Amino acid sequence: MQEAAQRLLTGESLYAVANDFNERGLLTSRGSHWRSQTIRKAMLSPSIVGKREHGGVLYDGQWEPLISETAWTKLRELLTDTSRKFGAADGSYSGKRPLGGGLTVCADCGKPLVSARYRDAIRLVCHKQATGGCGGVTITYDQYEHWLVELVMARIDGVRWRAENARTAAKVDTRADRLRTDRKMLQEERRRVVRSFEVGVRSESEMVRRVGEIDAEVRSIDGQLSALVTDAVLDEVATADDARRLWREADTTKRRRFLAAMIETVHVHKWPEGMPTKLTRRTSERMAARRGEKIETEAQFAKRRDQHAREALRQRVCIRWRR
Ligand SMILES: [Zn+2]
Repeated sequence: MQEAAQRLLTGESLYAVANDFNERGLLTSRGSHWRSQTIRKAMLSPSIVGKREHGGVLYDGQWEPLISETAWTKLRELLTDTSRKFGAADGSYSGKRPLGGGLTVCADCGKPLVSARYRDAIRLVCHKQATGGCGGVTITYDQYEHWLVELVMARIDGVRWRAENARTAAKVDTRADRLRTDRKMLQEERRRVVRSFEVGVRSESEMVRRVGEIDAEVRSIDGQLSALVTDAVLDEVATADDARRLWREADTTKRRRFLAAMIETVHVHKWPEGMPTKLTRRTSERMAARRGEKIETEAQFAKRRDQHAREALRQRVCIRWRR
């Protein structure tokens, strides 16, 4: 804990410290691996300065302080600073984005990417602690979503979409009806089985076994039905205009459902080797002349940057379509 405090005070992140502890095979007192929040909690606890808290007042404890009170004050300021990059409050681990929640996965390790706030931008990251991922892939969210939604719309605009969608919708309806009927029959059978035990026709163990089987079947049907509900979102989508309207008016849950109906998974690869991650605007006449390039206006630069970002997305993102 002393080491953790020291490293945080010299600017390392909770995430980095937790990863390092895990890589060294260190465990928490409960024997589990470290997460950023475990370390944060330990750092904020008064026991680290040998005190205990009761009713908002600190008392001397029975143990030695691990760090000085000055260091602790600094640590608390650091860890409660709302401008910090990572923290629980910003929803680092949550899937609050339409393309989070398992739809986007790391091409290197196959783990789902989770959303995290970095400075002012949301990113999807392969997260070592949240998912046990490799930690090697990160993508800026807004650009990625914008680009991908454009592709989805283009696909819906494609000539084959309308006919295919109508056919798939009909198939989905039939399948859902059949599942609902099966489900109803199973529930009736369940009632009969329980009744037959009550009147002494069946033994208790027989009843328990059969009811267990029925419940498992019902659960499986519910799973299949909810997968079909995902597709139902496309019932109102015949053209890309419908899809755009849906996207505009939908909340996050519905947007995700829409994307999940269109897309099986999206694999995101590492940043392409040799491709610059940042472009700078060409403003120096002399430098530009030397390279045979022209100096750029703000608008020209914005356009070049946009094309660069799209090229990176084209190379990094691999979509497996459902429809
Ligand atoms: Zn990964």
